[in-house]
Amino acid sequence: MQTLICHAAQDLRIENTPPPGALQPHELLVRVAYGGICGSDLHYQQHGGFGTVRIKEPMALGHEVSGVIEALGAEVQGLKTGQRIAISPSRPCGTCRYCQLGQHNHCLNMRFYGSAMPFPHIQGAFSELLVIDAAQAHRVADHLSLSEAALAEPLSVGLHAIQRAGGVLGKQVLVTGCGPIGSLLIGGLRRAGAAHIVAVDLSDLALDCARRMGADETINLRTQPDALEPYKRDKGQFDAVFEASGSEVALRNGMDVIAPRGTLVTVGLGGDMSLPMNQIVAKEIELRGSFRFHPEFATAVRFLNQGLIDGKPVITRILPLSDAVAAFQLAGDKSQSLKVQIAFGDAPTTLQTTRETA
Ligand code: ZN
Repeated sequence: MQTLICHAAQDLRIENTPPPGALQPHELLVRVAYGGICGSDLHYQQHGGFGTVRIKEPMALGHEVSGVIEALGAEVQGLKTGQRIAISPSRPCGTCRYCQLGQHNHCLNMRFYGSAMPFPHIQGAFSELLVIDAAQAHRVADHLSLSEAALAEPLSVGLHAIQRAGGVLGKQVLVTGCGPIGSLLIGGLRRAGAAHIVAVDLSDLALDCARRMGADETINLRTQPDALEPYKRDKGQFDAVFEASGSEVALRNGMDVIAPRGTLVTVGLGGDMSLPMNQIVAKEIELRGSFRFHPEFATAVRFLNQGLIDGKPVITRILPLSDAVAAFQLAGDKSQSLKVQIAFGDAPTTLQTTRETA
């Protein structure tokens, strides 16, 4: 079988790897259909890591995957071969203090796919065959394409950020950064009852997606640099701000327009930056980080299955595994790409609106 492995910066290889061995009783063998390229995959491929995290040994990339069950371990209940699933890449231990508190995203022994944070690294999911724990499998509705199902992971990140904000019903909300996470987050905000959603980015492609995902107003700060000015009046107009770009400028913009005691959730990982502490203090801004997700994955799959969130606008291109290196180059070009996905095996490279013949 073939696996997409990153050896170092600018060294991404499609390699033949040995097929998985015998299944443990609670495991599934899955034939992977689609894998979405995430910002962290891009960082590994372009720079060999991000911040202090570096690739120190060859690592398969990928954590946004869907597929079809190929075989079942002896004790797996309630699933069958041939079923289509979204695969949660979140693999907490279940027994550490944070897992026992229900904070699985803070698990001390987390084995999140495709992460060079621990060493040995946790291998990723961009492989034709994957052995998963049955608990990672979430059934996909017959009418939902497996490429859309592979959006469950980035949607989960957005849904967790909304949870961190602590309720957006009836609120005026700003989202800075409308790549796949920001745009899917907007779909979640609409579902969560936000009254008015303003989306900011530097790319018209991203803003068009944000509007299709439910933003009421979009602002391109490259071409409309003063468009946020009216929102500064009376100390700021937004009850909640979601910063999904990882940019210091965007974070500072958010602080200028957030209302006193507003909640500012940072989803983007932008490294170290300097912040206007006086503004945080004087406006009593609630600054909250948001990292990955856990229970939100099931919610994300349910929203996609029921058509409550339509993720199709986020997917800009699907390329076969044989073109994976080109797919990464395309994904890194924000002028023409939002979510780029890799199709494994014989999965179609056009976005299907009805059930695929998987
Ligand atoms: Zn744990």
